[in-house]
Amino acid sequence: MAKPILVANWKNHPASLEEAKSLIRELSKAKLVLKKTRLFIAPPLPYFELVSSGARSFAGLASQNMFAHMKGSYTGGITPGILKSFGVRLAIVGHSERRAQGESSEAVSLKVKAALKAGIAPLVCVGEPSRDADGEYFEVLRDEIKASLAGLSKSNVSSVIIAYEPVWAIGKSAKESLAPAELAESVIFIRKVLSDLFGRKAAESVHILYGGSVEYANAGTLARESGISGFLVGHASLNAKQFVAIAKSLTGK
Ligand code: PEP
Repeated sequence: MAKPILVANWKNHPASLEEAKSLIRELSKAKLVLKKTRLFIAPPLPYFELVSSGARSFAGLASQNMFAHMKGSYTGGITPGILKSFGVRLAIVGHSERRAQGESSEAVSLKVKAALKAGIAPLVCVGEPSRDADGEYFEVLRDEIKASLAGLSKSNVSSVIIAYEPVWAIGKSAKESLAPAELAESVIFIRKVLSDLFGRKAAESVHILYGGSVEYANAGTLARESGISGFLVGHASLNAKQFVAIAKSLTGK
């Protein structure tokens, strides 16, 4: 059976290089557990070297964002080629915190295509900002998926990983997160949208992760009852004990 995928989104944490080193040291102690997952750590850029050398034996390097252009003069833009040369194998694109700063699904779709061209797996974040009793949020989700994956084909969509992250469930606590049955329903819906766009076979090959207040307390039930391939973890990835416990519940150990 394929290993579950686990992605740690460190965002703009830990607050210093010393703290980041200490987190890597703590995670290293549990490397045998972590190696049972396909683990990626997406640190702030200045911690790339620390993660790629310190976590080499148990985690791959991921980026939290990526520039859509392969070359040119764009101050502040980090191209897919540079990321690739640092060993980045997966790039988070379209995170809701970037969409909130104005990143459109059209811009996300350019990044997805650029990542694929560079040989980096795009982890495309999608999720409704809020829920309503009539289920209109499903349409919002459908439109976002469609626009974010625009221009992809049956053959390259299978290299894309979807992170379903309902925006309202991010950065809270396990208690305020999504219920396992709600997640299962969304996963079925996302697969249906993918199937309508790319055909059933291609849709089945796409991994779907869940992100949004995954903690040890809810990881087990969310993993077991929903049809996901793993988690994208924010705040709980900064606590080695919590994070290792999440890995354990994903692998059922
Ligand atoms: C995220 O921001 O991608 C995320 C999943 O955060 P959290 O786990 O803190 O909700």
